[in-house]
Order: sequence, then structure tokens, then C-alpha cells
Amino acid sequence: MKKLVFASNNAHKLAEIRSILAGRVEVISLGELGCHDEIPETADTLQGNALMKAEYIHKRYGVPCFADDTGLEVEALDGAPGVYSARFAGPHATPAENVALLLDRLSGYPEPRKARFRTVIALIDELGTHFFEGRADGEITLTRHGGQGFGYDPIFRPEGYERTYAELSEQEKNSISHRGRAVSKLATYLHAIAQD
Ligand code: IMP
Repeated sequence: MKKLVFASNNAHKLAEIRSILAGRVEVISLGELGCHDEIPETADTLQGNALMKAEYIHKRYGVPCFADDTGLEVEALDGAPGVYSARFAGPHATPAENVALLLDRLSGYPEPRKARFRTVIALIDELGTHFFEGRADGEITLTRHGGQGFGYDPIFRPEGYERTYAELSEQEKNSISHRGRAVSKLATYLHAIAQD
């Protein structure tokens, strides 16, 4: 089976991606690679950050790898927090602090508070660099709901659902999520090159 390093320290993302690519790609974590570095992500676009993380690993270890970067883009906030989603409430903000700040910034805004998650994956393999994007439209709820998932999951209700991401099973979330869609495109590409 093809092996790919996933350049992320986020255990939740690793689990999501392993479950989506199960049986098709062996996803190697940074820990398994022996990398414990804090990988820089200082670009001002999702694509730039995803590329920066993948290039960091590729340059040091010379192995095929991919990285993702995700942003939550809220319409009423002109696309914020976007690429700064992880640091919305400050450089070392916890997910709970980010969620609290977002709810605070949106207080007084009537529903629906439209938003979308966008993920960009950068893959570096033997053939070069490739990008895959996935989006999920939805809205920001008035309060938190559910205990699954991570990050902004408790306040993001995907379009066509009555529940937030944090109230969906991992499988349900993966089947409709921004990351799920981007990873499906990655899987389609990997499948296509495996046929050549
Ligand atoms: P990054 O891709 O790790 O840089 O993620 C940026 C921010 O978006 C972090 O605060 C994450 O917690 C959040 N985030 C990324 N993916 C998801 C998701 O699937 N659900 C909720 N929050 C997410």
C-alpha cells in the first residue's frame, strides 16, 4: 500500500484522515517519522500554509507527504477568522477561547450567520506538488451543541443538517466535511496515478 506522511500534529485530523483513506493509503504520522518539530505556518493563505508544512517535511525527510490547512470563513465578519482560525483569540488560544470570541463577535447578528469551512491540502510526491480543496457551507449556531470533534465543531451547523459537526458521528462528519471533501479529491488523484 502507498505510504504518505501527514505533516500535522493534530491527532483529531490524523484520525479523520486515516479513517477516510483506510485500506487505500497508509498514513504515517509525524511521531512515527520521528519528527517532533513545531512546523511553521506563517503564510497568509490556506494554500501557502499547507505548502509550507508539506515542504518543511519533504525537504528534511525526502518522503512523499501532504499537509492541510483549514479556515472557518464567516460571512458577517468578511471571511474572518479564515487563515487565522487557530489563533483567532490570540497566539496560544485554546479552541474554547476561539469559539467564545467568535460567538461574542457575532452576538446581535440574526440567524442565519452564514459561514463555510475551507480546507486546502498540499501534496508533494514523485510527480511534483498538487493542491486539493474542499468546502462545506453552513452556519454558526447561537450556542454550543455536541461533544464530538474538535475546534469550532460545536458551533458549525452544516447546510441541510439540524445538528452541528460536534453532534455528528465521525463517519457522518467525514462524508460531508470540508476536510472529507479535500481528502476524497486526494484519494481520487492517488487512485488515478496508481492505475498508470
Ligand atoms: P489548522 O488547519 O490546524 O490550521 O486549523 C485552523 C483552525 O481551524 C483550528 O483552530 C482548528 O481547530 C480549526 N479547525 C480545523 N478543522 C476543523 C474542523 O474540522 N472542525 C472544527 N474546527 C476545525
